[in-house]
Amino acid sequence: MRVVIRPLDWVIVGGGPHGLCAGRALSAQGASVRIVEPSGALLQRWSDRAGAVGMTWMRSSVEHHLDVSPSSLDHFLHRPENLDVASLAEPHRRPSQAAFLRHARDVAARHGLDRDLVCGRVESIRRMAGGLVVVGEGVELAAHRVLLATGSNAPRSPGWARRLQREGAPIDHVFIPGSALHLDVLGGGISAVQRALMVQRVTGEPVRLWTRRPIQVEHFDLDRSWMKHRFVSRWDSTSLADRLVFLQRHGRRGSVPPGLNARLERAVRRGSISIHRWPEKVTWEAAEGRLRMQCRDRVLDSGGLTLATGLEPERLSWWLRSIAMGLGLPTEDGVPVLGKNMHWGHGIHVCGPLARLRLGPMASNLIGARWAASKLPSVRMQPV
Ligand SMILES: Cc1cc2nc3c(=O)[nH]c(=O)nc-3n(C[C@H](O)[C@H](O)[C@H](O)COP(=O)(O)OP(=O)(O)OC[C@H]3O[C@@H](n4cnc5c(N)ncnc54)[C@H](O)[C@@H]3O)c2cc1C
Repeated sequence: MRVVIRPLDWVIVGGGPHGLCAGRALSAQGASVRIVEPSGALLQRWSDRAGAVGMTWMRSSVEHHLDVSPSSLDHFLHRPENLDVASLAEPHRRPSQAAFLRHARDVAARHGLDRDLVCGRVESIRRMAGGLVVVGEGVELAAHRVLLATGSNAPRSPGWARRLQREGAPIDHVFIPGSALHLDVLGGGISAVQRALMVQRVTGEPVRLWTRRPIQVEHFDLDRSWMKHRFVSRWDSTSLADRLVFLQRHGRRGSVPPGLNARLERAVRRGSISIHRWPEKVTWEAAEGRLRMQCRDRVLDSGGLTLATGLEPERLSWWLRSIAMGLGLPTEDGVPVLGKNMHWGHGIHVCGPLARLRLGPMASNLIGARWAASKLPSVRMQPV
């Protein structure tokens, strides 16, 4: 149990890209900051997820990173020691995943965020005289303010897959650590295509990709106009009800950038990947240890299935719901309603996907991390 007696200025819950980006902004102001992260390492979950899909290139361009200046990553890649990861994928100058991670770790080290990381899972936040106490497995920290940067926690799975998993069928979600390299992959977005190509490369076996609709080819996962000043200022003056409608209508549809689609098409032509319509029915033959995937008039036999079906839109988890109820913090449709400075109430602030009512559809992306970090209050502002 780690106990810090003198309250810190900030405790950040979650050591992913959003927590790191906020930690960078706050420590640059001279604030005392600790990040609490259960894996014991910054960016662990992000790099695990990227590794699980064999991601090599970022989808966003080189201006999207966790530092202050938009050109920071580009300059970093011009240093002699980074020439091995310096190439950018055209036409949108996308850095490699390795380059993004190396730069993010450099940002963390420059601000001492890795050195001061606290290993633990937060389960509660209590009010005390003059601040807050963050409590959880292996952690008890007092702070004037807390930032929740807990990311997207719920992998999305169809109901039939969850039922078959309970029966012991070999079905894994790509974003749950330890998923096996199954030769059947379900999903039609970037993660599914990357995973299918990676499994084919590693195993050398033909892989089947099961998609609900034809592959959608788009450079980016979200409309770039949502990053523009005009959209952001309109968002700020839109009612909560209209924001909710917009977010529901414009959820992530799952698409694939052109370069990756070209690799998929080559694999299909070679016969190493085949694309199938989403199965109408899947059954688990426990005695034989096989899945049966029914598609139109055919039934295909499978040794195991990987779900690459994305993540659920994040909602407050049980411990955050109980904090919201205990402290009377406002929510709408399971999501915090935030005021200025990403403030939820009582010195608790929020970023990442849970901040989407405040920041719009870009909230969970890297640009959303930079926006949230730039809005956090200065250390001299008294918590209200
Ligand atoms: C493979 C992949 C590629 C992506 N590529 C891009 C891209 O190219 N461009 C782009 O803009 N976006 C991209 N995204 C989307 C997005 O940028 C990232 O998902 C996002 O930045 C994740 O950051 P995060 O900090 O919100 O979440 P996470 O990385 O999930 O971090 C949240 C952290 O909080 C911790 N946590 C959760 N609960 C607790 C708790 N109770 N106590 C303590 N810690 C807790 C978790 O362990 C986790 O480490 C990508 C996403 C993925 C998965």
